[in-house]
Amino acid sequence: MTTNGAPVNPRVNLPGERSHENLRNYPPVEDWDHHVEYDAKAHPRKVPHTYSLIPTVCFNCESSCGLLAYVDHEDLSIKKFEGNPAHPGSRGRNCAKGPATINQVHDPERILYPLRRVGERGSGKFERVSWDDAVADIAGRIRQAIVEDRKDEVMYHVGRPGEDGFVERVLQAWGVDGHNSHTNVCSSGGRSGYTHWMGYDRPSPDYANAKTIVLLSSHLETGHYFNPHAQRIMEAKQNGAKLAVLDLRLSNTASQADLWISPWPGSEGVIFLAVASYLLRTGQVARDYLRRWVNWDVYLERLHPDASMDFDVFLERLTEDYAHYTFEHAAAEAHVPVEQIERLAEMVADADTRLATHTWRSAAAGNLGGWQIARCMFFLNVLTGSVGTEGGTHPNGWDKFIAHFPDMPEANDGWSEMLWPKEYPLTTNEMSILLPHLLKDGRGRLEVYFSRVYNPLWVNPDGFTWIDVLKDESKIGLHVALTPSWSESATFADYVLPMGHASERHDTMSFETHTSKWLAFRQPVTRVAMEQRGMPYRDSRDTNPGEVWEENEFWFEVSWQIDPDGSLGIRKYFESKARPGERMTQDEYYDTLFSQSVPGLPAAAEGQGLTPLQYMRKYGVFEVAKELYRLDERELTDAELDGAVADDRGVLRKPVTDETQPPLVGEAGAVGLVHEDGTKTAGWLSPSRKLELFSTTLADWGWPEQATPGHIESHVSAGRVDRSNDEFVLMPNFRLPTMIHTRSGNAKYLNEISNTHPLWFNQADATAMGLTTGELVRVTTEIGHFVVRLWATEAIRPGVVGLSHHMGRWQQDGHPGSRWVMGKVDLDRSDDGIWKLRYKEGIKPFKSEDPDSERIFWDDPGVHQNLTFPVQPDPISGMHCWHQKVKIEKARADDQYGDVEVDVNKSREVYRRWLAMARPGPGPGGLRRPEFLMRHVTPKRKAYRVPAGTEGGGDR
Ligand code: SF4
Repeated sequence: MTTNGAPVNPRVNLPGERSHENLRNYPPVEDWDHHVEYDAKAHPRKVPHTYSLIPTVCFNCESSCGLLAYVDHEDLSIKKFEGNPAHPGSRGRNCAKGPATINQVHDPERILYPLRRVGERGSGKFERVSWDDAVADIAGRIRQAIVEDRKDEVMYHVGRPGEDGFVERVLQAWGVDGHNSHTNVCSSGGRSGYTHWMGYDRPSPDYANAKTIVLLSSHLETGHYFNPHAQRIMEAKQNGAKLAVLDLRLSNTASQADLWISPWPGSEGVIFLAVASYLLRTGQVARDYLRRWVNWDVYLERLHPDASMDFDVFLERLTEDYAHYTFEHAAAEAHVPVEQIERLAEMVADADTRLATHTWRSAAAGNLGGWQIARCMFFLNVLTGSVGTEGGTHPNGWDKFIAHFPDMPEANDGWSEMLWPKEYPLTTNEMSILLPHLLKDGRGRLEVYFSRVYNPLWVNPDGFTWIDVLKDESKIGLHVALTPSWSESATFADYVLPMGHASERHDTMSFETHTSKWLAFRQPVTRVAMEQRGMPYRDSRDTNPGEVWEENEFWFEVSWQIDPDGSLGIRKYFESKARPGERMTQDEYYDTLFSQSVPGLPAAAEGQGLTPLQYMRKYGVFEVAKELYRLDERELTDAELDGAVADDRGVLRKPVTDETQPPLVGEAGAVGLVHEDGTKTAGWLSPSRKLELFSTTLADWGWPEQATPGHIESHVSAGRVDRSNDEFVLMPNFRLPTMIHTRSGNAKYLNEISNTHPLWFNQADATAMGLTTGELVRVTTEIGHFVVRLWATEAIRPGVVGLSHHMGRWQQDGHPGSRWVMGKVDLDRSDDGIWKLRYKEGIKPFKSEDPDSERIFWDDPGVHQNLTFPVQPDPISGMHCWHQKVKIEKARADDQYGDVEVDVNKSREVYRRWLAMARPGPGPGGLRRPEFLMRHVTPKRKAYRVPAGTEGGGDR
């Protein structure tokens, strides 16, 4: 922060600064209201245009990089998006998906008006409807469900999240336990692995300062936090850091690595355990750190009750317990050369306390027991004491800032078994993949189901079962698709309501990009430009294209109409404080939020003569704190200590008496830890406030054999795949760096870059099977098959095939869609549950107001492989285990590219088989779920308890 409160970034020319006479990285901030550029299309003539550069935040992945929208003064149109140099995470840089926002905004295929279904659900016919009529119908149904105490029949299912806490507050005001996420097709596995160490559910590596970086996945190139992480990983490499990558593919990331290991899927944890064992037997562990911060006493007590309670004894026992994880054992398990594992061990040992590690999705999302792989990876950080250090790996909560609106509604009483079924008490997130099966089981119904920037039937496994349920009005009374663009699922909705892109909506955003806590502000940029000019508008529908309505205003309006007279106690949370009886505006909401909930922002704004809201509108971001290391050692304040009593393990707890409050952060009122030396520090969010080498949660909730970092045999382990019978492991969960998910369909630049969908297939395997590049193969899963084109390559390990999860888009004839990416299909279901999808037309040029649509040169829509996957929920993390055991053969005579066939009866059988692997709750104390595990909408503590007499319980 500069003395005048402006953000500091060496790449920005701030007021009064000149980096070079005529050479600048970015337009200087003082020019942002009046920036002149020549029109590139008018070249060689010099035609100047004047722009307002208005910051917003990219909406195309979770990284939330800063964007600057170039708004033309002439007509307030948006000409382009570039990086916002004031953003501490992205520092002015973006991946291809950021600037491609311009395509989404100007896409001739986008949805501009609210639509209502005509005819049968799924017929693909819609008519325009007024917002007033749509909101009245939706709000009326929700009100009825609330009044009749059917609150669990209202569900909001989110794909790409927006502002942390915003919709959660809305649902809490309604008293509805209805927040559903996409997380168990994404990251539940990784989250579970981290949570059982520290209570925080993800890592935040300090890449830039690392000595060794270990990535499990192509994280540099395509993983989570792709752009902000990638730039810091490359900085570290420039500074001499070594990079090791475990990835089944030779991804672009692996190609940059000092060491690439391509193990058999599911064996990654064994590799990490072999490295851990090496560190232990060679004494290269951080003794003092382990003694202070690991619950080694519990480890001894539970696993070695006869041993004396002595740290050295603990280290001896731990070393013995992991001794069988030798390099040779790991190499055999992983089917890789032993030298690679030795090299990895050396790199980790060399890191001192500067070991930055990360996994997300990848193996943790691919395998049964994948969460243990993440837990084993973090074990290396714990052993080397590189947790929370400079160059080490932090918990996400240290590097992320959530601004909570001060006026929070009371927590709700309910517990939705459709989201949190009793079989999965330890799942890190809602069991969203099971929703159609739970509905088919008759466990409940939904009166109103919102799919919000989410395409459940396309993204999830077992999409045909989703279609069965989405079409069934007895199971889903009303499906409302909130989406900026057409998706396969939206065509099965009753209302399709256009929401805004990155430049058409408000959200605050923050993510753990590096050792910094920043809060960024997504804003409707045309509206900001109009405001700057004093132009009147009613709400974002007057400033966005068509009648696109920003979501915040939509939720405020729905909430208002659920409770028009305030008698339900809902309306007050959406009412203006300054103008009682009127709706709160977005300016009022964010003025309150930024003034009261963001430390340091009011003072920084004042330093520039701005209000906090004006500051955020101007810069689009505020850095709350940075370079926060070792916050586990933060001394507790008097206020935190007030009333806290240490238990026999030194955990400081405040008595919990009020069952009508949500659980405190930390189980049973834990606030910190008193150490042997008498210091009282914050510690971790685990039950013991320490790093839990032995997880009492896992042990006491039915999984004692998984309480310590270990290996779970994957459902696609080498022993379960018969290679002699042409069985392979299909890796369907890797990303392309240039693709979003559904919404790349509306970004022509991205489709121009990535428009083929080959099956990665090892060259040696192809030769052995007599297959060649370009040939069609049939890939058979447990419930069906698909037909795809093969690419023979050395860039994937033998025995494994890979197909990116981005393509395979389709629309039925006459149904709306995105012609940039969707092929036309025939869709057929037999009475006995056999679904068939066949392309009858690929992608073709089309006429539209965008002349580029006639220049489309690609024709491949890809293959919708996810349809052929049954649900495979990990019994602990709840993660859908994406890898598939498949059989591969040459395409048969009547097979066509893109064919998909599935038997949904078989998918039900597989669902039941995986369900039987679960160990249902309740757990200790009759709890449905441990209190320290995160929930988006946290109900009252009493809701955690299964009512007496209804426990049921599981077979342990
Ligand atoms: S990494 Fe790319 S897609 Fe993700 S927020 Fe940044 S610019 Fe957008």
